[in-house]
Amino acid sequence: MKVLLATQNSGKVRELVELLADEEIEVLSLQDVDSWQDVEETGATFAENAAIKARSGVQQTGLITLADDSGLEVDALDGAPGVYSARFAGEPKDDERNNDKLLALLENVPDVQRTARFRCALVIATPEKDEYLTEGTVEGTILRQRRGSGGFGYDPLFFIPDFGRTMAELSLAQKNKLSHRALAFRKAVPILQDLKQRAAKERIDKEIF
Ligand code: IMP
Repeated sequence: MKVLLATQNSGKVRELVELLADEEIEVLSLQDVDSWQDVEETGATFAENAAIKARSGVQQTGLITLADDSGLEVDALDGAPGVYSARFAGEPKDDERNNDKLLALLENVPDVQRTARFRCALVIATPEKDEYLTEGTVEGTILRQRRGSGGFGYDPLFFIPDFGRTMAELSLAQKNKLSHRALAFRKAVPILQDLKQRAAKERIDKEIF
């Protein structure tokens, strides 16, 4: 079975390919699709944006399509930056300016109120118009200064109490095990196994009847 992961990010593709290594499920990415048309992510939630991208993938390729959307939710900012995480400090997208803006907004927020989470929503859409949603979250707090040089985005400010480190202080292998994206992707595996079995059964039914 072939599925499309609607992303240009080769790191995300590698993560999904590894998770599906034993499943005989081939993962294509947008780099494999000719003349891909980007859709506007107009959703108010991560799940809505993921669904918009996944539906567009099905429309444009006819393949079962997975699409994820993720970001940071800060409790003291009523869940911001949320779906605006990538461009929190405006265009063009810039991780450093985003982190500076976050630090400035939280300057007077006491440590106990600096709770936050990374959230990832992953939608699997099929040509039969079925849709499945999985989610992953990682709980943490926002530090007052950056720590660590790994990762990207808000990782240097995002401290995970369970590990005593920021996301940027974890190795890539560690992050890929515990991240919000890894959790959402992992939950997608049994759904894809199920879809594959269903497709195989339909093929056999067609041959017999
Ligand atoms: P995307 O939906 O994966 O493209 O993520 C959107 C934005 O959320 C990114 O540009 C980052 O600002 C933020 N973000 C998502 N995942 C992470 C992460 O694992 N670490 C740090 N920032 C992240």
